[in-house]
Amino acid sequence: MTADSLTFPTQTRLFDGLDDQPLDAMLLLLRQLRDDPRTGKIDLGIGVYGDEAGRTPVMQAVRQAERIVAEAQTTKAYVAAEGDARFIALLASIVLGAARAADDRYCGLQTPGGTGALRLAAELIARANPDARVWVGTPTWINHQALMRSAGLQVLEHPFFDQSTQTVLFDAMISTLETARPGDVLLLHACCHNPTGAGFTSDQWRTIADLCARKGLLPLIDIAYQGLGHGLEEDAAAMRALLDIVPEALITASCSKNFGLYRERLGALWIKGSNAQAALRARANCVKAGRSMWSMPPDHGASVVRTILESADLTANWQAELATMRARINSVRTELARAVPQLASVAQQTGMFVLLPLSREAVAELRVKHGVYMVENGRMNVAGLRSENLPRFAAALEPYLSKGE
Ligand code: PMP
Repeated sequence: MTADSLTFPTQTRLFDGLDDQPLDAMLLLLRQLRDDPRTGKIDLGIGVYGDEAGRTPVMQAVRQAERIVAEAQTTKAYVAAEGDARFIALLASIVLGAARAADDRYCGLQTPGGTGALRLAAELIARANPDARVWVGTPTWINHQALMRSAGLQVLEHPFFDQSTQTVLFDAMISTLETARPGDVLLLHACCHNPTGAGFTSDQWRTIADLCARKGLLPLIDIAYQGLGHGLEEDAAAMRALLDIVPEALITASCSKNFGLYRERLGALWIKGSNAQAALRARANCVKAGRSMWSMPPDHGASVVRTILESADLTANWQAELATMRARINSVRTELARAVPQLASVAQQTGMFVLLPLSREAVAELRVKHGVYMVENGRMNVAGLRSENLPRFAAALEPYLSKGE
């Protein structure tokens, strides 16, 4: 008998009874990719930008700002539960635009990644209206539903995208949302939809804004890829127009992609309240909720982004590198649409992802036969393609598309 079985009766063992957790599809994919000895594998799986050499480099402005921060920083003491106020103010101008950044009905705080912002938004909604239901499009980012449910919220789905025809199901979406209740939440992607790359026209955005205002729905807008579609301003324009129509909203931003700060965990949440006091009170509730999850957000990424945005030179440098990333993504889209005529719509879509019209079997076969790695639902990261591997990928893909799969 071992010492601990003498000390503790077996029925008090907590961990023996836990459910097995199957490996997350993305982690499984990473493992399969790592264990595949073939050369010339094509990694279109995880949602990380890759350059023409297949690298995810630290952006130059980030490198320079990190040096400045390392030199200037004299303490690692806590900053604040709201995070770095100057970072929030500077990022607000980029995300919300100058007019809204100066409007005291908007109040923001720093979060650990866009994920932290979404989790905090969910906690705030649950505090304000525990009966709120969150509407998400089918499909949406794989983590949205879990994040909303983790705060105890109910999640409902509305149609969004038809994978086989690559079209937005706008009428079906709106007629489903007509059944929403006042106080329900509508989760929207501001740009560069994950996983489909599809978006709304400005008229459709206007219809959504009017629907939210008329039915009393709270928009929760996730902006995780600003600058990777058409441009920093362009990618935020539809969201900003909607914000000007609705009395209340939540905006969750991520600096993971557009600053390449993935592992530093940097994001922000803004609340638009009906007045300044309401917005401040909502933020105080977020701080309270954040205190019992992470207490204080990590600072390094925020110091870096603040340093970039405080310097005109570093800001210009950052924007130029972001423009290069965007141009590469868009040129891969054009090339792919040209190489595979069935995928013409890919050139009109934006951001890093395409949800290919493939069955799970086809995705598995592409992996086994051709060493092409993508998510089982057919999501591919276009930034994983390069001039070297794109023709091979197009040739491998084409038979599956022609078969109408
Ligand atoms: N929203 C969407 C749509 C995303 O795709 C992601 C990242 N994949 C996030 C939010 C969160 O990103 P992070 O927490 O890494 O900032």
